[in-house]
Amino acid sequence: MADIERRLRKLRALLRREKLDALIVSNEHNVRYLSGFTGDDSVLLVAREAAVLVTDSRYTEQAGKEVFPYGLEVVERKKSIAEALGVLVGKYGAAGVGFEGCNATVDFHKHLTDAMKRVALRPTMRLVEGLREIKDASEVKTVRRAVRAAEEGLRSTLPSIRPGVTEQDIAAELEYQMRKQGADASAFPIIVAGGERASLPHARPTKRRIRPGEAVLIDWGARLEFYNSDLTRVFFLGTIPSDWKKRYEIVLQAQRAALKVIRKGVMTKTVDRAARDVFKKRRLAKRFGHGLGHGVGLEVHEAPGVNRSSESKLKPGMIFTVEPGIYFPEWGGIRIEDMVLVKRTGVEVLTNFEKQFNQVVI
Ligand code: ZN
Ligand code: ZN
Repeated sequence: MADIERRLRKLRALLRREKLDALIVSNEHNVRYLSGFTGDDSVLLVAREAAVLVTDSRYTEQAGKEVFPYGLEVVERKKSIAEALGVLVGKYGAAGVGFEGCNATVDFHKHLTDAMKRVALRPTMRLVEGLREIKDASEVKTVRRAVRAAEEGLRSTLPSIRPGVTEQDIAAELEYQMRKQGADASAFPIIVAGGERASLPHARPTKRRIRPGEAVLIDWGARLEFYNSDLTRVFFLGTIPSDWKKRYEIVLQAQRAALKVIRKGVMTKTVDRAARDVFKKRRLAKRFGHGLGHGVGLEVHEAPGVNRSSESKLKPGMIFTVEPGIYFPEWGGIRIEDMVLVKRTGVEVLTNFEKQFNQVVI
């Protein structure tokens, strides 16, 4: 309970700094974060003295149960969301009102403008997303459970990863096993890519059958109580050509180099560079096309970005992925993805799944 009150307090401090009397929160993850409401199609108005969830009759009862304990109010709209917000903004005498610029459609903005004639409407950029970068204790706990469900799910799936099964078979089994471990769903469509198909960083599972002597890349995660996990492992089936082993060790080395520099105060791009330098030394820099990682929480991809140009400073409570990878068309690809938590001192790797080369030969 205290978490939501703290989040609202922090947001109100940001609104004062932005010289806004209220904020219209329309991003559904942000609504959930600030109110505890788990439905959709609803918008939250955070004013100085109150926070009101505007919803419709499908959700009125559920919304009350979920948000009243945190001292929020619920308004069941009769007409449009914008009209209901207009009435509330008038009631609280808000003159400067923000709306989420990264989320509002042109259409929604027009409706807001029509409903709030005497109000200065202003887009804000990622105010709530900024707060969400730092996970509080209850969020860390839930992410840990999402990581465990993913890992245990894969562990139970391993015996069925063998020559002859299709990529789709593996993805289906893995999703089932994660749910058996407590996941509400897969965090995103699972990637299973055998052999040369792993050169596509975001390959969709196909009916292609896994063959002996090849690698299988699996990128998967669990969603549990609205929080996500995101991991990648590559497995080798049987006897492996030596070039796979060599490249695997380099990716692992790049990941280790990145993990070594993670601590509070370090720039995210410095973490990215630590991994990139390892590839550069091996003349593989061009093969590592994507950023090193991304925040994970209510969304699978959220702030902070960890890439060549990201300028955030690491702070305790940040959770993000470290996922160096190299890709060769017609040959395949290798990526190793773990999730980390920045602590007051140092870093904790949240994922435990084996990744030494001899441990991933199955
Ligand atoms: Zn992933
Ligand atoms: Zn990822």
